[in-house]
Amino acid sequence: MTAALLPASFDPFTCGHLDIVTRATRLFDRVVVAVFAHPPKNVMFTLEERVEMVRESVSDLPSVEVVAFEGLVVDCARRVGAGVLVRGLRAVSDFEYEYQQATMNRRMYPELEVICLFASIEHSFLSSSIVKDIAQNGGDVSALVPPPVSRRLRARFSPPTQVLVPGG
Ligand code: ADP
Repeated sequence: MTAALLPASFDPFTCGHLDIVTRATRLFDRVVVAVFAHPPKNVMFTLEERVEMVRESVSDLPSVEVVAFEGLVVDCARRVGAGVLVRGLRAVSDFEYEYQQATMNRRMYPELEVICLFASIEHSFLSSSIVKDIAQNGGDVSALVPPPVSRRLRARFSPPTQVLVPGG
């Protein structure tokens, strides 16, 4: 039985992430989505919120488990018994980062294979940051994130657009 690990901050989980998770379920018996507890950047959502959003978004995928983790990805992979790390590759810019991470992870855990799935065309320019940017400014992100994430973003950012007129 091959288990795969998909680690990220998921701040928040997007349709691009869901696409990679769904495709990973067709390749592996068990897919563990690991939510990074303390990412090295500011997050909009708490760990509990991020985990909950991922869980609700993958609820119809029975072979997917969602866990929270801190520390090294390789240690998380060992703990959950994953022999494969799955990553998504968007534009060229993802490659350098993923290659560096994969090389370092291989040094620490040589048996762990890294598999990169190319982002689907419709998600190739989708990122959690762009989703937050649009939602924060009152835009509609319902086509970019799964419904549980969309509901949460709507609840948080629903103020009407303000037009700032000088002297107004
Ligand atoms: P983090 O903020 O933790 O780095 P990211 O969302 O940037 O998380 O990336 C986590 C993983 O998900 C990476 O492998 C990244 O390439 C992949 N990913 C992110 N967005 C997409 C997308 N739209 N399509 C496919 N893969 C994606």
